[in-house]
Amino acid sequence: MTTTTQASKPVVAHCLRCGRALRNATADGYGPKCRVMVRKAARAEVVAQYKPHQVAKAEELIEQGGLVPLRGCRVFYAVSSDGATAYKAHRAACTCPAGIKALYPCKHRIAAHILSLAA
Ligand SMILES: [Zn+2]
Ligand SMILES: [Zn+2]
Repeated sequence: MTTTTQASKPVVAHCLRCGRALRNATADGYGPKCRVMVRKAARAEVVAQYKPHQVAKAEELIEQGGLVPLRGCRVFYAVSSDGATAYKAHRAACTCPAGIKALYPCKHRIAAHILSLAA
């Protein structure tokens, strides 16, 4: 067991939603609690539009950090599951094989949709 003294870290950012001081910079600018709230609200809107298993896959992708914001939280880089290819995803379009066929909204599009709502 290691004992570490919890030295107070400097404030590096403020939560976009409640303005609370954040001691760790976050990718989306929200504190942990607010992120949950914002994602929940975004999810409710998205769930109404897509199939539940697709939304689950999209959320898994987000949890894994599989989407990287490219332009103002609207366009994202999505890395393929084997890490070999990167796609460009927007809520309305994606350059992955499924997205180009556009038979159904791929998980990248749904994930981009969730993140663009949460931004
Ligand atoms: Zn907050
Ligand atoms: Zn896609």
